[in-house]
Amino acid sequence: MQRLKVKLDRIDHRGYGAYRDISGAHDFGSFTLFIDRVQRDPFAPPSLIRIRTRENPFDRVLFENPVRRVAFEDFLTRSVGRAIRRIVHGNRGSGGSGRVEIQRPSQVVLPRTSMVVAPDYVEARMAVGLPARGRSVDARAASTMLLEELPEVVRRGLVPAPQGSVEEENARLHVEAVEDANYLRQRLPGLGLVAFVADGAVLPRESGASDRPLSDGAVPFESPEEYRVEVDLPNAGLISGMGVHEGVTLVAGGGFHGKSTLLSALSWGVYNHAPGDGRELVVAREDAVKVRAEDGRSVSGVDISAMIGVLPGERTTENFSTPNASGSTSQAANIAEAVEAGTSLLLVDEDTSATNFMIRDERMRELVKREPISPFIDLVRPLHRSLGISTVVVVGGVGDYLDVADRVILLEYYKPSDATPRAREVTEQFPPRAPLAPGEIYPPRERIVDPSSIDLRRGKRQAARSRGLQAIELGRERVDLSYLEQLAEAGQTEAVARIIGEWVAAGEVRGVRDLFAEALASVSENGLDSLGGFRGHPGEMSLPRAQELAAAINRIRPLRAGSNT
Ligand code: ADP
Ligand code: MG
Repeated sequence: MQRLKVKLDRIDHRGYGAYRDISGAHDFGSFTLFIDRVQRDPFAPPSLIRIRTRENPFDRVLFENPVRRVAFEDFLTRSVGRAIRRIVHGNRGSGGSGRVEIQRPSQVVLPRTSMVVAPDYVEARMAVGLPARGRSVDARAASTMLLEELPEVVRRGLVPAPQGSVEEENARLHVEAVEDANYLRQRLPGLGLVAFVADGAVLPRESGASDRPLSDGAVPFESPEEYRVEVDLPNAGLISGMGVHEGVTLVAGGGFHGKSTLLSALSWGVYNHAPGDGRELVVAREDAVKVRAEDGRSVSGVDISAMIGVLPGERTTENFSTPNASGSTSQAANIAEAVEAGTSLLLVDEDTSATNFMIRDERMRELVKREPISPFIDLVRPLHRSLGISTVVVVGGVGDYLDVADRVILLEYYKPSDATPRAREVTEQFPPRAPLAPGEIYPPRERIVDPSSIDLRRGKRQAARSRGLQAIELGRERVDLSYLEQLAEAGQTEAVARIIGEWVAAGEVRGVRDLFAEALASVSENGLDSLGGFRGHPGEMSLPRAQELAAAINRIRPLRAGSNT
């Protein structure tokens, strides 16, 4: 520590580049500070550091298995984040001077590169803005930041009470909540369920721009008697809630009665949530995909023939490509791609669907004879019967869907009830609907993708990186991910970008399915750190799902892909 102080004093007032002298390891007694990467100037992306404690003083039960370890790492990341916000003064000169940051978790709990809990140490990865006056080293500010603030952040965020401020009891609650959710999700197939919403869960969010729980006036979830399921959890014990069964489930109800909110909670149920979220015990099959219309997206060689027949110009659809999909073709492509990547549950909201993909009514059938689309209403049952894929679909306007639903959940003033018997009565009053699709459906033909269609060059460099949560840059190409509703945080986007970058660099033509499976198997075996570009701090990453990785690759505009037959 003393030596770091001396080094800093020596470079005071020198050009910013002199900060390179402090890179490397510094012994602080109870922890080691590694300065892995020093920024080039105060306005450049921040410097990367790691803090590794001399020992791991925490109770072993907090990280005794992989699920608990990930949850505990998430807990400590949040804990260090809070400590930083309390202790660090920030703004200590030009550019990013004085900033200290750790990856900011969303509401979900994911494996991340921000924290490593090992048997004999704990390591936090952070980014700091080394202080400058203009463009020269400000050693005084740097000393305050690195030698005073940082040790205090460690004490508050990374050391258990009474020496530090981390309450192990809170850590235990965090870890147990995540373990319960994970267990619950794993129980779903055995119970014949695709999703579960616990009694008392809080589903609405603070606002359209915030994923935090609505604090005022939220009506807690209460399962209809008919759908109530009890599950015995490892930590919470016996809990109850609504089981969403395999098959076709309709969520009906008037406008503004909470339909989309329920569906969105199910779509986030693929992840575990941090305690306090309200959706801790709302879970869905981990491969569930929310599909929507996305007109304007590009599509590369996707087999949508099961949903859409021959298009104008005698265009067949087994190998469908377009730089500009319509509402219906984009939704069909989204479904075909979800099936290709592997899914057991589709979530569809009328609000974000193409009407002509969802339904075609009697009058329109009379008027329009050349219609290539088999509407989704005629596909949901075959999807389950032939491919074992369940659907939860939200409808407010299209009553025909009552005909094809196994179950109907009616939402009134945010309160669900079982409307299945009533729906049967209603459908009997109308003549049966003539289906517009064959009773069977087949999976899309599997594709191979060619990485040589992607050029990572950007000037003299190679670039495969995220631009925030909703976009990645591959060379000069920007890939728009703003319609991926189940992408939780920017760290996932970054991991996706790097996985794609590695695949392109390796240059192998691959089957789409193998590509995702192998990339994620490699990450789960070698850790997210293996996607880091150099030794030390690997950058801010979180684990993505195969579904989002697939979706990102599928949205690369120049991508060459097609069936391998
Ligand atoms: P719908 O899709 O049925 O039109 P939404 O799901 O969009 O309705 O919900 C309408 C509004 O009600 C949203 O502002 C939402 O946050 C709020 N909301 C949804 N569920 C609840 C609830 N359980 N308690 C309080 N407000 C809710
Ligand atoms: Mg809605």
